[in-house]
Amino acid sequence: MHASEILENGKDEFAQLMTLEMGKPIKSAVQEAEKCAWVCRYYAENAETYLADEVIVTNAAKSYVKFQPLGPVLAVMPWNFPFWQVFRFAAPALMAGNVGLLKHASNVPQCALAIEDIIRRAGFPEGSFQTLLIGSDEVGSVLEDQRVVAATLTGSEPAGRSVAAIAGKQLKPTVLELGGSDPFIVMPSADLESAASTAVRARIINNGQSCIAAKRFIVHNAIYDEFEQRFVSTMKALRVGDPADSATDIGPLATEQILQDLHEQITKSLSRGARLLTGGKRIEGKGNYYEPTVLTDIPKDAPAYYEEVFGPAALLFRVDNINEAIDIANDTSFGLGSAAWTRDAGEQERFVNELGAGCVFINGMVASDPRLPFGGIKNSGYGRELSAFGIREFVNIKTIWIKNDDTPG
Ligand code: NAP
Repeated sequence: MHASEILENGKDEFAQLMTLEMGKPIKSAVQEAEKCAWVCRYYAENAETYLADEVIVTNAAKSYVKFQPLGPVLAVMPWNFPFWQVFRFAAPALMAGNVGLLKHASNVPQCALAIEDIIRRAGFPEGSFQTLLIGSDEVGSVLEDQRVVAATLTGSEPAGRSVAAIAGKQLKPTVLELGGSDPFIVMPSADLESAASTAVRARIINNGQSCIAAKRFIVHNAIYDEFEQRFVSTMKALRVGDPADSATDIGPLATEQILQDLHEQITKSLSRGARLLTGGKRIEGKGNYYEPTVLTDIPKDAPAYYEEVFGPAALLFRVDNINEAIDIANDTSFGLGSAAWTRDAGEQERFVNELGAGCVFINGMVASDPRLPFGGIKNSGYGRELSAFGIREFVNIKTIWIKNDDTPG
């Protein structure tokens, strides 16, 4: 059976595994399994075209580019989208003829094993995709093994630096998909109702634990007060609770440590002068639940200003004009996604040209899509996943030059 069919047929079962292991609301877990089916289908349909020989006319009788697999690629993956992150690597990498070695996050071992099983059941040759149940301290020795030719890591900046350093010493190529602190800019001409409701969805996706969740909301003064009122009231109305309940909007954070780190960022930012509009504390009782939180007036020296905020906490900024909006948006060490809401064509062009990020979404929220390249700049990493670009990350782009007569080449 095709991997996409296995994923579609088993989506409820796979969703339960995700929700059990990392607390993702069940309805988004089902959507995640469906999206994995999509990426498998997408590469099944397009890989051959993307990797077909490409003729380039030169003085040779025939010259062309051939794409060949590199070999075993180590994939170090995070828990936050425990299926999607793996499939968006595995679908193109395997279709290009590589072998995948998965070192998944330690808190999602059942998801890791289920993915290996799906790929085996889809008929890939034995050993072409293997889950290694190892800790992060063993990643170095796997990467140093001569048989492993490349690595990809999706995760935090420190993990990315560590894997890239080891790979660098070995001269092995890497793709890094790291953190983000995406801006979401709202200008006066925007559809405010739609912008505010999308803004909340963009912040709380995956209980706020997404690299491309919008984290900094940069709003023009002319509409700031109305936006703040709509945004805060929608955040307050969210249903926080059992992730296995399909009515839940926000489940628990994946670990106690994530909750502690988030709370420390919030309290330190408040002590530096940020103002709390709602939330700001743990929800008492069982589980790692945190109140949907909104901060404003965030000073530059507050951790929330320059760090990634990984949880259901939003930062609001008031700006007087587009220059200020772009300055604040780009005042970050990250450069993953960005969104801007405006109906003004001139403003749209400025955002497209001037936002320092791997993508710019106008009048929408940042989302990954198998058809579009995905990845960041600056400390958000390098390389691209998905689309025709993603499948060419782990291939030898081999130049072929053939001449059959005696004329000098
Ligand atoms: P993490 O701690 O970096 O863990 C990610 C993976 O790296 C896990 O498999 C982890 O293994 C491993 N790891 C951790 N430290 C390592 C090291 N020093 N050497 C080798 N491997 C190491 O990340 P996380 O906190 O779980 O995930 C959240 C981060 O991922 C956020 O920053 C988020 O923005 C980012 N992210 C980025 C994208 C993207 O596409 N750009 C997508 C999703 C998430 P253990 O579990 O065994 O520690």
